Amino acid sequence: CAAAALIVRRRMQSSGKWARVIEILKAFEEDCATPIAKLRQVADAMTVEMHAGLASEGGSKLKMLISYVDNLPSGDETGFFYALDLGGTNFRVMRVLLGGKQDRVVKREFKEESIPPHLMTGKSDELFDFIAEVLAKFVATEGEDFHLPPGKQRELGFTFSFPVKQTSLSSGTLINWTKGFSIEDTVGQDVVGELVKAMERVGLDMRVAALVNDTIGTLAGGRYTNPDVVVAVILGTGTNAAYVERAHAIPKWHGLLPKSGEMVINMEWGNFRSSHLPLTEYDHSLDFESLNPGEQILEKIISGMYLGEILRRVLLKMAEEAAFFGDVVPPKLRIPFIIRTPNMSAMHSDTSPDLKVVGNKLKDILEVPTSSLKMRKVVISLCNIIASRGARLSAAGIYGILKKIGRDASKDGETQKSVIAMDGGLFEHYTQFSEAMKSSLKELLGDEVAESVEVILSNDGSGVGAALLAASHSQYLEPEED
Ligand code: BGC
Ligand code: MG
Repeated sequence: CAAAALIVRRRMQSSGKWARVIEILKAFEEDCATPIAKLRQVADAMTVEMHAGLASEGGSKLKMLISYVDNLPSGDETGFFYALDLGGTNFRVMRVLLGGKQDRVVKREFKEESIPPHLMTGKSDELFDFIAEVLAKFVATEGEDFHLPPGKQRELGFTFSFPVKQTSLSSGTLINWTKGFSIEDTVGQDVVGELVKAMERVGLDMRVAALVNDTIGTLAGGRYTNPDVVVAVILGTGTNAAYVERAHAIPKWHGLLPKSGEMVINMEWGNFRSSHLPLTEYDHSLDFESLNPGEQILEKIISGMYLGEILRRVLLKMAEEAAFFGDVVPPKLRIPFIIRTPNMSAMHSDTSPDLKVVGNKLKDILEVPTSSLKMRKVVISLCNIIASRGARLSAAGIYGILKKIGRDASKDGETQKSVIAMDGGLFEHYTQFSEAMKSSLKELLGDEVAESVEVILSNDGSGVGAALLAASHSQYLEPEED
């Protein structure tokens, strides 16, 4: 009889705990909700901040950085150029042979290396030495196809995917690091200067012809293949957007009016924040414990570096408060960033009836030996909530940009075609995310306008884009005649 009572008590406890799991799940879902009306508020707030950031330096959380790119590639670019891409988890060097309108990219070779994590939080010289060494080794493998005329210096487009205050097209100082990087002595330095010094240390002679953000590179690379590209968005480790603005609409620009009348703006939208953003307790603690508290709030709810981490935090709460994984909290679950977004994506796309992939991931990553179908379904729901919030907010951001440049509605019955060039692993590989992003954008635009807005993957556009901008700013170009 005592034994039966014990069993009954256990059952009641466990159903009480399960009720608590569901309660945590529901509360999280509510806090993350992004109904269409909220997305419109976010888009409007984005437009307002865009104006403020363009009006004056420091006028908004949106830095709206001037890129000095006032001409996007035409297709006429020719010659042999290097590109270097530093930004997320990987670092990439590349060389391209550009053949002009007819031949385009004639040949292209690249090499990718992951950045040793200790270099992301160490000393500036160590990071730049590493980069210069990889580049020097790559240059050493240059074949006959990439023949450099005698007496000519190699030229490089440098894609540096962090907020930089440009002082010219080929120089600029680092405002702050983002994502996993935090190297104090680089902040405030000219990053081209840092790179050139490191290249000198390894005995590499190369001229940096262009310094660009990855969004700018993607916009340039996108425009090269599609003349209707006006916006570029990165959804990867971090997130950001760039677009073509009318120079007249940039009050803080005091330079000469470019001949094109246009200027490309690096928004640094990852740093956007607004009272309209649906933030949860998990987001607040993630931010508080991050390398850059108070910064990059939009990035922390959208981008690949953080989505898996949000999932870990909700699961930890369920484990601690509702014994989600049983009586003990799996020790691995306490390790920050242990659930990476690609793993979350793999679980989210599990269509097997018993959610086998979810079970295996829980086992591999968290060392949870067994999990019930009920538990696995909760994990899928969490993935869904986190990914759709991020995807829908990125759509709201894009809609905000289209509103700012007047491409959110048809004019006199005519709608201009607008193409958005996308890059980044999150967009490329997390299908549920990119599908949700595209359908939310459609929802915001309405069917008619959505017809004329196209979202394309511009895979590694940023590398080619940097090389193209190096080409159009080469020291060997004939001076343009008026
Ligand atoms: C950086 C941006 C970059 C984006 C995507 C953000 O963390 O601040 O400069 O474009 O990540 O790589
Ligand atoms: Mg990148």
